[in-house]
Amino acid sequence: MRNYIVCYVIIRKNVRYILDGLRQQVSSSEQKVVVVSVSPQSRASLAAHYGLSSSEVALRLTSFLKNLGVHHVFETGFSRSFSLLESQREFLERFNRKDVDKKALPMLASACPGWICYAEKTHGEFILPYISTTRSPQQMMGSLVKGYFAAQKGVSPQNIYHVTVMPCYDKKLEASRPDFYLSKYETREVDCVITSGEVLKMLEEQNVFLRDVEPAPLDSMFSNVCGEELLSHAGSGSGGYLHHICKHAAKQLFGVEIEELTYKTMKNKDFQEVTLEKDGTVLLQFAAVYGFRNIQNLVQKLKRGKSPYHFVEVMACPSGCLNGGGQLKPSSEQSKKELLQQVEELYGAERTSTPEEDTRVAELYHSWLESVGEEKARLLLHTQYHAVEKNTSGLSIKW
Ligand code: SF4
Repeated sequence: MRNYIVCYVIIRKNVRYILDGLRQQVSSSEQKVVVVSVSPQSRASLAAHYGLSSSEVALRLTSFLKNLGVHHVFETGFSRSFSLLESQREFLERFNRKDVDKKALPMLASACPGWICYAEKTHGEFILPYISTTRSPQQMMGSLVKGYFAAQKGVSPQNIYHVTVMPCYDKKLEASRPDFYLSKYETREVDCVITSGEVLKMLEEQNVFLRDVEPAPLDSMFSNVCGEELLSHAGSGSGGYLHHICKHAAKQLFGVEIEELTYKTMKNKDFQEVTLEKDGTVLLQFAAVYGFRNIQNLVQKLKRGKSPYHFVEVMACPSGCLNGGGQLKPSSEQSKKELLQQVEELYGAERTSTPEEDTRVAELYHSWLESVGEEKARLLLHTQYHAVEKNTSGLSIKW
């Protein structure tokens, strides 16, 4: 009980700190442009709590945040399109060099910072070459906001305060990685990360019930918007990486159009396989591996040279991002399982589009990324990983 109270006090303090920080940025004499980018998983979590659809949450949250003084509210489904397109390209490039580079495959997804931290700390140099270098949707948005958006608005990146709303606390660690610090401008690509649960606390702190908030028009600049509706991506609630890469690779490499992917549950529901076969030959073998128990098994298979996969969607949370540690908790009348099912249904109810269909994404590739040159474009869309040296001496551990 005491732990619960301490945690609660820390969270309340944290939310007040975030609110004060936001107000400070909005009212500071430096006149910072304040941008908030909301994840689709957080929208679905808030939607379940308030009995709204995910798009209704977007409209009302935009209104709430703009009333606080936020200038732009974007959504990371838009930046996820970049992440999916780059992942598709990276996969084809790795597949084509698999015969000369033994660590080109399997390509392991990189959007989950919980998994990345574990990989860097526990398996270091062995595992890093397998991990996709494509940035996560949060850090793609960081590039877009502090790069393209800043240039368009004629504002220096340090005069933009960029906040993201995410389903887990690990995204705070991701945003604070040195790789995402713009030393030239002395600013981070993402300045502050708020979890879905912290947004709820912010609303409560302001005595605001989201259902009662008048909807405001969505910012269409960096949002996957169709009228008053936000569009999502097909596949898992963790971004649909397996879905999009598998369909794209099947078509590009083997000329096979896949209508529906068939998922085969392996040892448990957090370990699923998708296989593409032609005339009895396996062409592609993909897996979704969630939760540390399954991740450990996957790494052991890799170490023994027994992994049959070309791509693995790796996520640290059991059930993936819709079940992230920063999502809203169930009410007293609801079980965790019931809430998760509701969040999954709300997330899945959004109309989907493919990343290739978004003409603004294609236009940005053309007008922004082609203009900065190949090398810079790579830096804006990709990242790198670093093995963390193990501390072998017990005496040097700092408690
Ligand atoms: S799987 Fe969990 S830890 Fe990983 S990005 Fe998703 S919510 Fe965060």
